Amino acid sequence: PLTTNDLIEEHRICVCVRARPLNKKELTVKDLDVITIPSKDVVMVHEPKQKVDLTRFLENQTFRFDYAFDENSTNEMVYRFTAQPLVETIFERGMATCFAYGQTGSGKTHTMGGDFSGKNQDCSKGIYALSARDVFLMLKKPIYKKLDLQVFATFFEIYSGKVFDLLNRKAKLRVLEDGKQQVQVVGLQERDVKCTEDVLKLIEVGNSCRTSGQTSANAHSSRSHAVFQIILRRRGKMHGKFSLIDLAGNERGADTSSADRQTRLEGAEINKSLLALKECIRALGRNKPHTPFRASKLTQVLRDSFIGENSRTCMIATISPGMASCENTLNTLRYANRVK
Ligand code: ADP
Ligand code: MG
Repeated sequence: PLTTNDLIEEHRICVCVRARPLNKKELTVKDLDVITIPSKDVVMVHEPKQKVDLTRFLENQTFRFDYAFDENSTNEMVYRFTAQPLVETIFERGMATCFAYGQTGSGKTHTMGGDFSGKNQDCSKGIYALSARDVFLMLKKPIYKKLDLQVFATFFEIYSGKVFDLLNRKAKLRVLEDGKQQVQVVGLQERDVKCTEDVLKLIEVGNSCRTSGQTSANAHSSRSHAVFQIILRRRGKMHGKFSLIDLAGNERGADTSSADRQTRLEGAEINKSLLALKECIRALGRNKPHTPFRASKLTQVLRDSFIGENSRTCMIATISPGMASCENTLNTLRYANRVK
């Protein structure tokens, strides 16, 4: 297993992969595991070990990332190697982003938001909450204590290119860009938070707002990007910002041929934003002066996080282990591979 010695200290962009275990549904239909993580940074997609006659041939493919987490990894473990190193960035006047990218059902919300599988909805173990916990721990350190920093949180959703405030009954918000290319989400609620418990309450409020009024909760959440932000302010001025994003599902093949116009448009919008995101992260990694952030609402609202000296990002690509998901899994791995 990974140890603290494996922590890569110096990088602006960290890309990792997390595979979840086969779930009940997959086990019931006897889906087979086609993912192996042979070492701490390698992912293999291969034919199932247990061969069946009708198995279609699968070419072995190997990918290398900064880290690879297998089905036994915990959120705490994934957190330690992805978002945790970024907490310090925002104390050092930087901008940090952490994305969960992958197909619907692969574990994005489990990783970012917490464990919602049982009856008890536990958001305390997600990367949102773990990051908040460490922000409040850092605040107690003497070097940061004397800065007199205030912590705020926002939680919003981008659905079909429109922004909705999850802390204010899904109020629809406008995005404005002023002459100095500063992007502003007008009226976005920025809540004052004093401790981890305050943050957990906001995550719960936002989560229930996210899914309410929908016929199928997952159908909606799979089509929207959820953005949770922790903002540090000093004397009212922004000191640092950490944006944690549970992206819309990246499976869009079926949408493009859908008979439903709305579904087609939504699918196209999601494709566009995920492509723009990839380009923006790549630009950040190459120190390119021009970040194509205007190509989508997602990258536009995250603009200030893609520019500047002290911006860092990590992407957690989540994958399903089953053979039935293999096409989507390969797409996810290829995308993540190209981000760097
Ligand atoms: P997504 O947000 O990508 O659509 P979810 O996070 O909702 O996917 O995960 C789908 C299901 O799989 C949920 O029931 C979740 O609890 C479960 N799950 C996801 N990742 C893991 C994991 N690493 N370990 C155990 N269960 C997981
Ligand atoms: Mg989800």
